[in-house]
Amino acid sequence: MSSQREENPQRQWSLQDFEIGKPLGKGKFGRVYLAREIKSKYVVALKVLYKEQIEKYRLHHQLRREMEIQTGLRHPNVLRLYGWFHDAERIYLILEYAHGGELYRLLRKTGHLREKQAATYIASLTQALAYCHQKHVIHRDIKPENLLLDHEGRLKIADFGWSVQSSLKRHTMCGTLDYLAPEMVENKAHDYAVDNWTLGVLCYEFLYGIPPFEAENQKDTFRRIIKVDLSFPSIPNVSADAKDLISRLLVKDSSKRLSLQKILEHPWINKNADPTGTCPK
Ligand code: AMP
Repeated sequence: MSSQREENPQRQWSLQDFEIGKPLGKGKFGRVYLAREIKSKYVVALKVLYKEQIEKYRLHHQLRREMEIQTGLRHPNVLRLYGWFHDAERIYLILEYAHGGELYRLLRKTGHLREKQAATYIASLTQALAYCHQKHVIHRDIKPENLLLDHEGRLKIADFGWSVQSSLKRHTMCGTLDYLAPEMVENKAHDYAVDNWTLGVLCYEFLYGIPPFEAENQKDTFRRIIKVDLSFPSIPNVSADAKDLISRLLVKDSSKRLSLQKILEHPWINKNADPTGTCPK
């Protein structure tokens, strides 16, 4: 189907082009179904959003932005958006199918990940973010729920709802608390380095099973983020290399955080990440 789109980018899709299969999940604004394009037999995920909901929450601009950004991105670790169409009540997004589902589910099932698994995901994420940053896209909402896995366990960044395409510093307050960089919590100008902070938070959560600044309430999480109140529990036993990488990413001064290039050169990544990016459970 991708080649069909590339040959004919103006192609107008409609529901008649697809056979609808089992539901894959339910999001805030609609459901996602397994589907197959009838002509090519190409398997996709069809995300169905209700226009009424989108309008009620005034999300149409954000959604359009998400769709435009994601359509332009081509990277093995970024979920493809092949196209979209709508009818009177619904908007349909034609998405790459991620057979392995949410990384979040895997993390909750196993408690925490093995170092090789965690390093492979961090390397894949770093490569995907380097690509996005090159395209002037800051994701800003990277969290395990927005990370999907394909049939080979390859990580795919999904959900560009909060991302911003701009080379300018941003002043907007958004994102999920636990993963927010101090400059976002304090509502200060922020740039690409917010995604580098989030890599540190995710690396911690992959290895320990909980995000590093988790607290009883939002106010305490805010406080812990601003102070960079970071500690490493003794259980599970995590390597010194991994802790070193996390400590170099969870740095208050955004200009002093390890760059994406330096993450890929870090000994923990070198020793543990699978170069193919695939990761059997
Ligand atoms: P969302 O509305 O994007 O939060 O999606 C709801 C649920 O559907 C997610 O939690 C996933 O489990 C599933 N899902 C979404 N997109 C895909 C996809 N491209 N491939 C497979 N499952 C998906």
